Amino acid sequence: MSGPRRTVSACPDCGHDDPEDLGALPDASTFAGQALATPLPGGRLRRCRRCDLRWRDPPLEPAHYTALYDNSRVDVWKPGPLRRDQRLVLDHLGRLPAGATVLDFGCYTGAMLAALPQGLKRFGIELNQAAAAQAREHAGAHVVATLAELPTGQRFDCIVAMDVIEHVPSPRGLAAELMSRLAPGGRLVLTTGDGRNWLWRRLRSRWWYCAWPEHIAFISPLWLLAHAEGLGARCVELERFNYLDRPEQGRVKRWRQFLRWWWLPGLEARHRARRMQRLGSDAPEDGVPGLGLTADHLLVVLEPLPGSPTQPAASPR
Ligand SMILES: [Zn+2]
Repeated sequence: MSGPRRTVSACPDCGHDDPEDLGALPDASTFAGQALATPLPGGRLRRCRRCDLRWRDPPLEPAHYTALYDNSRVDVWKPGPLRRDQRLVLDHLGRLPAGATVLDFGCYTGAMLAALPQGLKRFGIELNQAAAAQAREHAGAHVVATLAELPTGQRFDCIVAMDVIEHVPSPRGLAAELMSRLAPGGRLVLTTGDGRNWLWRRLRSRWWYCAWPEHIAFISPLWLLAHAEGLGARCVELERFNYLDRPEQGRVKRWRQFLRWWWLPGLEARHRARRMQRLGSDAPEDGVPGLGLTADHLLVVLEPLPGSPTQPAASPR
């Protein structure tokens, strides 16, 4: 082997510095629904051999992501049917007593907050200022751009982060920050893609979920095993689910496209280019095939371990 030695970054979550290389990620021409003037380089997909985190290497600078997300693009407010993950989370939140506080981290336009039962107090964190304004209006929520803007001592009975943890460079760092904001007996509910999904392990860096440039880090059940205790948490629920509401609809077509992508990627890329051309330049990017084939998402519920250092000491009776 010859040529300059490429620097490989250490695992953002545990620091282990000998990751597995899962291959090249595609360059991106759009980000968060907006066309980019210059394509973003995809980088490589790495997997930590110690904690099983997968991540995009190298990620962009945090300030670059902040600018890309606050792009004022908001699809028209539709109080329409909730997504499957939002319904799963709502089922969970229905068990909260009246007066409980719920923080939706990455609440976007507030669709989930607006659907909460009456009597729960609603809070949101949203970087996209146009989306945050909609969440305030439609969900009656107190919404700010970052967690730091909420008073340090403010804690919540439930914190939800749906489709968020894959957007940050260190899922462990975010989980630790959110755990520290739980009220005694509170719960942290996460949904995200499952890094150990059986098809993803075969497709490696060509899996649909890691092709989206906004997605930069991916957890798995093994990651939870590696990090829960260090986070002062225990996992009380772990559920795999299919992101699509009705995965049986169009299943044959989706599998055909997916198998073509797996075995004849050039042919599928040409098919996709023709499809996008037909739909016109305003059509949303439809990504590479793979969505909806399997239960490739996770719903995770974490609870603080009794006596964990992130929790305030119980008041004496
Ligand atoms: Zn690691």
